[in-house]
Amino acid sequence: MLLNINNLQASIGEKQILKGINLKVNKGEVHSIMGPNGSGKSTLSSVLVGNPTFTVTGGSVEYDGKDLLQYSAEERARMGIFLSFQYPVEIPGVSMTNFIRAAVTERRKAMGLPELSAGDFLKLMREKQAVMGIDRSFSGRSVNVGFSGGEKKRNEIFQMAMLEPSLSILDETDSGLDIDALKVVAEGVNRLRSKDNATIVITHYQRLLDYIKPDFVHVLYKGRIVKTGGPELALELEERGYDWIKEEVGE
Ligand code: ADP
Ligand code: MG
Ligand code: MG
Repeated sequence: MLLNINNLQASIGEKQILKGINLKVNKGEVHSIMGPNGSGKSTLSSVLVGNPTFTVTGGSVEYDGKDLLQYSAEERARMGIFLSFQYPVEIPGVSMTNFIRAAVTERRKAMGLPELSAGDFLKLMREKQAVMGIDRSFSGRSVNVGFSGGEKKRNEIFQMAMLEPSLSILDETDSGLDIDALKVVAEGVNRLRSKDNATIVITHYQRLLDYIKPDFVHVLYKGRIVKTGGPELALELEERGYDWIKEEVGE
């Protein structure tokens, strides 16, 4: 098992947000987490990558046989956990090439691999750019500065392709994307799918799941996973909304 989340609880300040999350993810699987706004979806992804804004108040997370919560955010990234942000940051003055080179070098170090030569890195970059349909001129530009919403998302999936993470978490990567950009993101994710990695796709809308077929769909509501099913659950949510879920949990 790649990820085993057991009764995970987390808060921000005095406010408890995650109230006992249970989730098991095996290598090769794609899980989708859906749920109304404010349920704790982004909090869960932040806690998994070690964002210090949130305090874990109970439960455990095992990743690749290790006690994940013992590791810093940097260490978790090196261990192969990748989070695609809902709102990507801009980093003026740092070129895409240098940004990705540093990240790839760290990841390789953690895997016991030597740094890529400049030539090999460039080759890898071109390969992945071709796969993702990214213009080469991106490489010289500052990270995300002046990128359109769609370009930022495409760029994130490109970064993901370069890093080859074991666990990718996409937090509403589809928000604000037109259908073409959505397809590009989905295609990128599908190309990166393998028996050695897993993906958690957090989405508010079902439409991304037309292109990324999840093995499991979970509904997160008020800090708990209240329902789990297959892709048909996403379609049902699209059709019926979340009110019936709220009724099922007794509201
Ligand atoms: P979702 O991603 O499902 O929309 P979030 O995890 O973003 O939900 O938010 C869950 C709850 O935590 C919400 O009530 C939100 O207001 C609160 N929350 C999230 N981030 C912060 C923060 N930085 N400070 C205070 N409250 C927060
Ligand atoms: Mg939200
Ligand atoms: Mg969110």
